Amino acid sequence: MDFIDLKSQQQRIREHLEQKIRKVLDHGQYIMGPEVKELEEALASFVGVSHAVGCSSGTDALLLALMAWGVKAGDAVLTTPFTFVATAEVIALLGATPVFVDIDPCTFNMDPGLLESAVQALLSGDPGRYPLPFGPSSSSEDRPPKLIPKGIIAVDLFGLPADYERINALARKHGLFVLEDAAQSFGAEYQGKKCCALADIAATSFFPAKPLGAYGDGGMCFTDDPALAEIMQSLRNHGQGRDRYENIRVGINGRLDTLQAAVLSVKMEIFPEEVRLREEVARRYQELLAALDRPISGQSIPAGCRSVWSQFSLLAEDEGQRRRILQAFEAENIPTAVYYPRPLHLQSAFAYLGYREGQFPQSEACAQRIFSLPMHPYLKAEDQERIVKVLQRALD
Ligand SMILES: *Cc1c(COP(=O)(O)O)cnc(C)c1O
Repeated sequence: MDFIDLKSQQQRIREHLEQKIRKVLDHGQYIMGPEVKELEEALASFVGVSHAVGCSSGTDALLLALMAWGVKAGDAVLTTPFTFVATAEVIALLGATPVFVDIDPCTFNMDPGLLESAVQALLSGDPGRYPLPFGPSSSSEDRPPKLIPKGIIAVDLFGLPADYERINALARKHGLFVLEDAAQSFGAEYQGKKCCALADIAATSFFPAKPLGAYGDGGMCFTDDPALAEIMQSLRNHGQGRDRYENIRVGINGRLDTLQAAVLSVKMEIFPEEVRLREEVARRYQELLAALDRPISGQSIPAGCRSVWSQFSLLAEDEGQRRRILQAFEAENIPTAVYYPRPLHLQSAFAYLGYREGQFPQSEACAQRIFSLPMHPYLKAEDQERIVKVLQRALD
């Protein structure tokens, strides 16, 4: 059994993949070939936004968005500590400061009530209102210059959209940008709109294990703002101006490969069906789990949201029970994963921010209790029954 089965998917589309790859080998435009623009247009239309900018990874998609807004040292960008490292890494790479906001324990996404508290704490410079980086400094020389809140990166964790109605309203009130980290949520929906269309800019990833995965790295930015789209197009190509040898800003080498665009265009043909299959698999898990003698909680899906289930995650009672559950699966050769065992404020890479254990209790509790079951569109009902039987025994 695979945690994510990419082979079954490939079998369905192998012939068409080979045709499209051969076409790229024939025309030889490996960098910014016609397939890139075609994919951008197809995905922009799928998502329902006017501009899509293909790039080299989900991480670079986040980075390009922040660069387009001119995020720099002294700026604070608010985000969740319960996410993949890239979400906060890009903030730090630009010299800005990640400011963490704890999650809602039911959805595992950023808690908008706490987001308001964190913005208030930043505006007043008062870490007594909400934990801030660098804490209550001891001496005035150590005290960093006051951080200016610039924006929010909301993450659609495990494929479930964050609470954009409240997040966007709060951002408007305080003049902040909102970046949707949709690396895990391409294909999901929120109040009738597709993920990647829920904020000022969205960034997704085509890492092979994501819901829409390439055969290598890739990513894309989405926006309805033509000026931001143009800046991101320039930034991904060394800050290019009107022609190749005019450089009007400092950018990066962050383009999407033509070959990956070709692969993605074939995968996109079956993607809507795969989203429905993922929902079916999730529903089967939910039914099987509801029949257990000892209930186990998972990610709550709020009304108006459709998750794309990039992970199917459950919460053990505590770390000890999780260890027993994972051992039981291992003994049966059933692959599992833990996303994420350590929240970002407790990672050594972010130790310089001065956050302490206990400041984001929901993220810390989730990190100790969470685990994910095999999840992909081709998971068979009998495999799911076996998985839940093993879980049942481990819980008894
Ligand atoms: C995968 C992921 C990224 C980074 O995407 P890459 O394509 O691997 O660079 C960023 N944020 C989240 C939430 C992710 O899951």
